[in-house]
Amino acid sequence: MKTKTELHTHLLGMLSFPNLMRFLDKYGVKIPINRKGEVDYENDDVIYYAPLELINNKKIQRQFTIPHGEQVPYSSMVTYYSNRGNVISSVISKICKDKKIDIKDLDGKNEVAIEVYSKYLAMSLEELASQGVEYVEVSFSNYNVIKGLISKLPKSVTDKIKCNFLLSTDRGRSKKNFNQSAKNLEELMSKGLCVGFDIMGEETPMSGSDIDPHSPTSMAKKLDSIVEVLHKSEHSTLRIHSGESRDSENNTLHMLKAIKYIANKKGITIPPPSIRVGHGVHFVKDKEYIKLLKELSCVVEINASSNYALSNVDSYSEIPYKYYIDNDIPIVLSTDGHGLYDTTVKKELEIAKSILGLEGIFSIIDTDRNMIKKR
Ligand SMILES: [Zn+2]
Repeated sequence: MKTKTELHTHLLGMLSFPNLMRFLDKYGVKIPINRKGEVDYENDDVIYYAPLELINNKKIQRQFTIPHGEQVPYSSMVTYYSNRGNVISSVISKICKDKKIDIKDLDGKNEVAIEVYSKYLAMSLEELASQGVEYVEVSFSNYNVIKGLISKLPKSVTDKIKCNFLLSTDRGRSKKNFNQSAKNLEELMSKGLCVGFDIMGEETPMSGSDIDPHSPTSMAKKLDSIVEVLHKSEHSTLRIHSGESRDSENNTLHMLKAIKYIANKKGITIPPPSIRVGHGVHFVKDKEYIKLLKELSCVVEINASSNYALSNVDSYSEIPYKYYIDNDIPIVLSTDGHGLYDTTVKKELEIAKSILGLEGIFSIIDTDRNMIKKR
């Protein structure tokens, strides 16, 4: 069975643990482990281990990957990302030191970062290609790195799998930051280095000033310049990370309202950009939610293994596949980072089928796109 598309993944969450250790080994960096057996880049009381010494160490592996079927608290996601980010940063620092590049020389440092991330991405893409994926959209926040990344990928990899980027930013950042992101996005899109924008961030309930479009710090004001840039391109995407955790079940509705407010104010019809809801597991079931999803032609990206691993659902049966399909909202299946969540798009399809059961017969399962919709 073919599962060719992976639309929701994050650069740092991609590589599997064994290959991450092999990747680090190539550069000769060592990993600091404290007395509690934790990866620790903060304290000095640590012992440094060669990555290949740790490759079969389950306790260390669990600090980079959540084994499929296991659960950790949602709040620990940041630790996984910081561990993954720290080991890659240690490679960049080592190369800068070896090449005597001054920390303040940002261009020099970016050059090294692009080199390192391109090798990391190439290994990650090889993994996806071996899982049958032929097209992937990767979310990453570092504009300077994205700028140089794609052209550095070896042809042996790009022949097997096509990779595009979504420039990401945190929902909590300022309007000024969003405006800067819009400029960066416009430049990346004009050069064909990026196909859209991804809004991430802590899944906490949105505040009154986030929601009120007239407030100077509202989501509608922050997103205005992003939508402006994306609307100019016929094939652009705006993904909103929302509806992931239980206590922020109204966020998707608020975000969609903000997007609709912007469209009305500008007198434009959306899409473009195509709106994708990343997660969409928790929401208040009402007509307004479905109406807005339809009006904006949204697709919902379901990341079942991630939702279970981070304890946002207690069982796959809580994932609302059927609710969306019955309401004529297409869903796509994705991993949210196959290395971090120890999964593949094939596994995600198996999970969806196990929940949809016979109901699945009444849906079209397009395995090329990993999309399920009403027949
Ligand atoms: Zn995600």
